[in-house]
Amino acid sequence: KLYNQVQDLKGSIRVYCRVRPFLSGLSNYMSTVDHIEDGNITINIPSRHGKGRRSFNFNKVFGPSATQADVFSDMHPLIRSVLDGYNVCIFAYGQTGSGKTYTMTGPRELTEKSQGVNYRALGDLFLIADQRKDTFKYDVSVQMIEIYNEQVRDLLTGLSVPDANLIRVSSTSDVIDLMNLGQRNRVVGATALNDRSSRSHSCLTVHVQGRDLTSGAILRGCMHLVDLAGSERVDKSEVTGDRLKEAQHINKSLSALGDVIASLAQKNSHVPYRNSKLTQLLQDSLGGQAKTLMFVHISPEPDAVSETISTLKFAERVA
Ligand code: ADP
Ligand code: MG
Repeated sequence: KLYNQVQDLKGSIRVYCRVRPFLSGLSNYMSTVDHIEDGNITINIPSRHGKGRRSFNFNKVFGPSATQADVFSDMHPLIRSVLDGYNVCIFAYGQTGSGKTYTMTGPRELTEKSQGVNYRALGDLFLIADQRKDTFKYDVSVQMIEIYNEQVRDLLTGLSVPDANLIRVSSTSDVIDLMNLGQRNRVVGATALNDRSSRSHSCLTVHVQGRDLTSGAILRGCMHLVDLAGSERVDKSEVTGDRLKEAQHINKSLSALGDVIASLAQKNSHVPYRNSKLTQLLQDSLGGQAKTLMFVHISPEPDAVSETISTLKFAERVA
């Protein structure tokens, strides 16, 4: 309740930043992160990139030692608001290899401790629904879509949206089965950085309908959990054909998302939803009463510094 009030007063867009740890074998590199203090992160810029320091402010910054539980720890009110009939969007943004999928899903070898936001959010949702079972009857259904080259595809049924089906679920394990199916159907392009890297946006949507058992009133809320395509700029002189086309589509849709969130944050009267499939699809859940959480991810390696700065600038613009 308090969270909702605070959100309504302060606007409903929050931006969190997460720095992943060094991956094994690279631990002797120096991190580009100079320090993290509450919502502030300071980056050391190496000399060949202009040398100096730059600070950025967000609602929260999670350092490399933050656990999956830490990252999820203050998201409970957001999940509760879905059951109260609000729409919520949670995005993972960042260059390929920065930890987007880790945050949303988890590592490849998944344990209960390493489960990401998607699992925890669903777990929380079913838990709260159960706590309210004497006053509300909730129906939960999910949909998983992918946007690749501005084409939308349903990852669970193989159909193209809007024919996509909502699939009724009654437990977290139902959702896990469906997520695994969707994951297998996802378009994965091999890149030098990471074989799981994605050239597509994937979105797990959870629709909740709650019936007040006393009044019969119906509440509808939904939650979009979005693992965005890698934000790295592609050197146009080095790619051609399909790769170039993919890069241009990704670039276009990520800028469209940035434009929408930035104009919502600035309370502009015109919000440019029509510029990409992603923002069109999420229109009802971006702006208005909806709550948005943008998770931006950065890699600590010096090699990544120019992408790191560009990610942080993107995030600063929407914060
Ligand atoms: P992305 O989805 O942005 O391309 P991944 O989530 O696949 O990046 O992360 C790249 C690699 O780093 C994976 O091996 C992943 O398990 C690992 N990784 C990412 N974030 C963390 C983290 N916070 N803690 C430990 N390992 C991480
Ligand atoms: Mg990924």
